Amino acid sequence: MTNETSKVIPIQPVSYSRSRQAGESQDVLDHIIDDFQDNPESMQYFYDLFRSVYCHGDEIKHEGMLVGTTCIQAPEELIYAFGATPMRLCNGSYHYDQKGAEFMPSKSCSLVKATLGMLNSDNVIPKIGKPDMIVNPTTCDQKKKSSSMMGDMGYKVYDLEFPNVKESEASRQYWQRSVRQFATELRQLTGRKLTKKGLQAAFNKTGRAQAAFRKLHSYRLLSPSIILGKDIFLVTNAYFFDDITRWTEKVEALNVELEARKQAGFKAVQSKAPRVLFTGSPPIFPNLKLPLLIEEAGGVVVADESCSANRMLYDMTAVDEWMVNDMVDSLADKYLKPCTCPIFTKNEDRKRRLLDLVKSFDADGVVYQAFSGCQVYEMEYRSVAEAFNQAGIPMLYVETDYSPDDKGQLSTRIEAFLESMKNRKKQKQRALG
Ligand code: SF4
Ligand code: SF4
Repeated sequence: MTNETSKVIPIQPVSYSRSRQAGESQDVLDHIIDDFQDNPESMQYFYDLFRSVYCHGDEIKHEGMLVGTTCIQAPEELIYAFGATPMRLCNGSYHYDQKGAEFMPSKSCSLVKATLGMLNSDNVIPKIGKPDMIVNPTTCDQKKKSSSMMGDMGYKVYDLEFPNVKESEASRQYWQRSVRQFATELRQLTGRKLTKKGLQAAFNKTGRAQAAFRKLHSYRLLSPSIILGKDIFLVTNAYFFDDITRWTEKVEALNVELEARKQAGFKAVQSKAPRVLFTGSPPIFPNLKLPLLIEEAGGVVVADESCSANRMLYDMTAVDEWMVNDMVDSLADKYLKPCTCPIFTKNEDRKRRLLDLVKSFDADGVVYQAFSGCQVYEMEYRSVAEAFNQAGIPMLYVETDYSPDDKGQLSTRIEAFLESMKNRKKQKQRALG
């Protein structure tokens, strides 16, 4: 009997085309800006920011040490409290997705392949510089297994242990302990102490950003919409890497403009435009394929339940006791209790949140994106579909990836879905007399 071991190709830096990467971002930006009317003037800051970072490759500046994060479950307040800057590394580029596929299983999710493809390339854009540490919450299996791959590429990786269950007191305590250990790790990395003042300043910084986001979110309740979802996704994607204080000021400026639009009775879409709730695998620039297809076809994304927008910024920290240890525990709670990522065994909260969003944003239907190879989003689809079915809310399930190849076929499905929503709306109006 022969004892065969298959040949394993070591992870090596892959060749990478800066111009292809920049071209992909350029095309998406041009489409976002030029092919839609009435873009808010305050969006110019975000358009210019993406052009500078993703197309021209301008350096992203940061204060103190740079801590890369691979998921929203990494508590950014702690990183700020140690004088470092968090930067979310989740990537949305098809070019990097292909680079990642050179050393990862082809069936992996595009988000993970693109992130690792970027980390394994030299002289990349966006020009983030080498993180002093990458914190990798142990959420889905693909994120977990990325950890050693990033380590093999020469990065210092910290595995932030995340529970699989969120309802039990045991998992809450387990997670609080993980977050405290993360604080110890950051202390060793930065050589700084965690103080009440530092933590409070970090809470204020993220709290102000979240308040600006919530205000922005509230303008999406209006019908007809006064801002399109493609712009909202661009704003929230900028949060991954922009200076948080400047980002907050720019969102506040956008809110002022939206208030003026509201007062003037402005409409960004026709009154009969179907209102869509977006859920599932996160749209990350430049992969805004699905939201853009919806809005090109005359729909409007009025709300979302995704970790590149609403889930990243909506839930705030509730502190009972202003002592450092209690503050850290409250922070841990903020990252566990409201989390509706499908990595948990049960996820009743996600269904509740989705039904709630449909109701409060008066959505006519739901589009559910699952990246091919993402088992958790694929598996959870069934129970979410069941919940919407029972509530009489139409949902379109789309399995896709970062490739542009399925655009034509997706566009036909989306148009048909929006058409059916328009008909339902008409029937409803007729029934109401
Ligand atoms: S989908 Fe879930 S595991 Fe993946 S980055 Fe988002 S929150 Fe994290
Ligand atoms: S889309 Fe799925 S596989 Fe990809 S990071 Fe999110 S949970 Fe993990």
